[in-house]
Amino acid sequence: MGFRSLGLNEKTLFALSRINYTKPTEVQQKAIPEIIAGNNLLVRSQTGTGKTAAFGIGIIERLAGRKSKKALILTPTRELAVQVCKELQNIGQTQHLMIHAVYGGQGIEGQIDNLRRGFDVVIATPGRLLDLSRRGVIRINEFDIIVLDEADQMLDMGFLDEVTEILDQLPQQRVGMLFSATLDDSIMRIAAKYVKQPKIIEIGEIKAAETIKEEHVEITDIDKFPKLIGILRSHVGVKTLIFRETKIGASKLQEKLWQRGFKVGALQGDMSQAKRNKTIQEFKEGMISILVATNVAARGLHIENLGLIINYDKAQSEEVHLHRIGRTGRMGQEGKAINFIQRKQTLDERMSEDHPDFAWMKQGSGVYSRSSRTEQERRPHHSRSTRHESKDYHHRNRRPARKY
Ligand code: AMP
Repeated sequence: MGFRSLGLNEKTLFALSRINYTKPTEVQQKAIPEIIAGNNLLVRSQTGTGKTAAFGIGIIERLAGRKSKKALILTPTRELAVQVCKELQNIGQTQHLMIHAVYGGQGIEGQIDNLRRGFDVVIATPGRLLDLSRRGVIRINEFDIIVLDEADQMLDMGFLDEVTEILDQLPQQRVGMLFSATLDDSIMRIAAKYVKQPKIIEIGEIKAAETIKEEHVEITDIDKFPKLIGILRSHVGVKTLIFRETKIGASKLQEKLWQRGFKVGALQGDMSQAKRNKTIQEFKEGMISILVATNVAARGLHIENLGLIINYDKAQSEEVHLHRIGRTGRMGQEGKAINFIQRKQTLDERMSEDHPDFAWMKQGSGVYSRSSRTEQERRPHHSRSTRHESKDYHHRNRRPARKY
């Protein structure tokens, strides 16, 4: 079944053929006719299913057919806002619609200039939209189509107050859509209030795509970095996304990998928006093949041909884990995820392996002697890992366990 059978406008069909969308995905088949008919929607689907184009095509069709006037899409992150905006601009390229993304972390003046030239669709993060509304640049009650994209993440990130403040200002006559990876109680409460009598569409089960192969590696903290290097060396040319739990952890790991000669970028919430956009672009275009990121990259982000996810730090919940690994194996492509599972070293291991706290025990008689320490071992405490990453070091120091 092609897009034509959904009764789309010729111009939209032409735009879709230009971006090589020939067949609608399941969520597109189900959602587009409902949106065109003006029904409210509650959609449970993960990213990678084509949900952006599902609401994107529906919106463009309604605006082009003058069934609606203006559309607002709320996204939880700036990255997602940029991505959704590009997708809608592609779909709407033949319709002369004004489509803009507005998000925090970037100067507001340029965004105001864009909006003053006119807009049909605005893709916004909640805080920036409210800011623009308070400045009188946008009137929220002008929007008669509203999409809450990645609604579960929006709530996770604490945007409930901002989102309800926005939804309360919308006109009564509107088409409302809520897209979420889960339809749990908190989502259903919002839906009950703001997306009245919706058609409910549920795509797939909440589980990892079948095209993703997962591998679990039980590993002690100290072995993580050498193991990572080994994995990266055996996946040369594979676009790889490495997840860390903290911003500082992500930056530090990126630095260490960079020092090892890997073309690697970092993505975390403390970076300026311009830098984040640049890094994502470089990763998309393959100028860097490895990205170390916090959960800011866990949802919504679509990177073409992302072959490998490494969960260097375990995700805090099953749901976040699914979002993280969902960055690969998209649109039926093969993907792989390697999950490091923390294992504590036993005392025996710590003494027999190359643990820095015990390295001195392995010198000569096992009696600590400052003069017997090698130059490498005299390095300050913080350079431990470098010492342990060295193959030579492992080789030289691998001796049978000694018990004391
Ligand atoms: P999404 O789930 O919206 O993040 O979409 C995942 C990816 O699928 C994006 O790169 C889209 O450009 C692509 N995509 C969406 N719909 C189609 C389609 N009907 N045919 C081919 N690619 C698509």
